[in-house]
Amino acid sequence: MKVMGLIGGMSWESSLEYYRIMNEEVRERLGGQHSAKILMFSVDFHEIEACQVEDRWEDATALLTDAARRLERGGADYLLICTNTMHKVADGVQRAVSIPLLHIGDATAEEVKRLGLSSVGLLGTRYTMEQDFLKGYLSSRHGLEVIVPGEEARTAVHDIIYDELCLGKLVDESKERLLSIVAGLAADGAEGVILGCTELPLLLRPDDSGRSL
Ligand code: GLU
Repeated sequence: MKVMGLIGGMSWESSLEYYRIMNEEVRERLGGQHSAKILMFSVDFHEIEACQVEDRWEDATALLTDAARRLERGGADYLLICTNTMHKVADGVQRAVSIPLLHIGDATAEEVKRLGLSSVGLLGTRYTMEQDFLKGYLSSRHGLEVIVPGEEARTAVHDIIYDELCLGKLVDESKERLLSIVAGLAADGAEGVILGCTELPLLLRPDDSGRSL
């Protein structure tokens, strides 16, 4: 079995899910007592978030590159960055190591296509919804039409992620707000919605709405 190297801690609330889901998948596929071979380097999210807010993306690249090199030295065969937002620096991280980085945009697009969708809404942090590192990746590499909500909704989603979900707070009113934003995206033509932030599935499940992924 290959060893998966996870760059986690962004936030650790969602990295826990990676650990659980990967182990569940291995048990499902291999049965018995099989479990996933995983190395994780979990960063101090305070340092990463400061880089984001202060627009210091080179410093953020250095922090994740350091994590990636540690995982490579530890014997990881592949790398995952356990956040959508930090895929903004994915190219820099990939250049620093010789093992492959599996890009979250490829996994996301594969699932969107499996569901037979081509026009999708995207929820995530402000960086993810407003910049091109994921939106552009999904449209130029995978031919998807990606729709994001308006400014007010983007602010609401961003604040729910950082002020609540990354701190482990699950708030019912925020879930309702997110569902109304999902409904708005559907009205704008989205056939499904990408929960493009690794904390969003902590609050929203695909069966909460016929339209979320
Ligand atoms: N985990 C989040 C994401 O998937 C946001 C936290 C971060 O800034 O990395 O984008």
